[in-house]
Amino acid sequence: MTPAGRPAITLALSKGRIFDETLPLLKAAGVEVLEDPEKSRKLILATSHPDVRVVLVRASDVPTYVQYGGADMGVTGKDTLIEHGSQGLYQPLDLQIAKCRISVAVRSDFDYATAVRQGSRLKVATKYVNIAREFFATKGVHVDLIKLYGSMELAPLTGLADAIVDLVSTGNTLKANNLVEVERIMDISSRLVVNQAALKLKQEPIRRLIDVFERTVCAAST
Ligand code: AMP
Repeated sequence: MTPAGRPAITLALSKGRIFDETLPLLKAAGVEVLEDPEKSRKLILATSHPDVRVVLVRASDVPTYVQYGGADMGVTGKDTLIEHGSQGLYQPLDLQIAKCRISVAVRSDFDYATAVRQGSRLKVATKYVNIAREFFATKGVHVDLIKLYGSMELAPLTGLADAIVDLVSTGNTLKANNLVEVERIMDISSRLVVNQAALKLKQEPIRRLIDVFERTVCAAST
């Protein structure tokens, strides 16, 4: 509760594209974040609205914070929701932000099509082991999955893996590392997620934010 007795809303965001692209949605709701996370080390950011605060967490921790009530709402990629699960989360809205795709990429001199056709066992490095396992199982391709936490592009260059499964946006990172995209697994965008109990207990302010976000997303896509 705020000193004025109104329920406070905590929104979990991750730094980077999700934070940057959520700001215009918050602005449409009359909420401005008062600190720049790139300049401050604070993890709890006040906003121009006394009842709304932002907490900065790792992208993969957003669903956990919201599920267990560390935050009332959050913004997280579809990739994170699929990979880490979305149990207990209300997902009212695709915010159509932080758009990218999750793809398979290999070194430009690796013959992926032939390796797949010949039924070779592929070594695939990724942060997204569940998405990769499901994708290759559906294709009937045998893979050894190697879990990494970052710099996936390095794996085919060092011989750690034949392929990677990673997020691709402009494709510049792949190109800079002499990699090529050979399969597009799925399109990704970020979703609003809401704690189910908060939705009941703080219905009015949460509904208001959802409505403004929805109208803003619709206006942007027309
Ligand atoms: P790009 O060079 O624009 O294709 O971006 C690729 C790099 O940015 C990879 O390291 C990705 O993991 C990361 N990336 C791209 N899009 C996103 C996104 N929407 N959310 C988080 N990371 C992303």
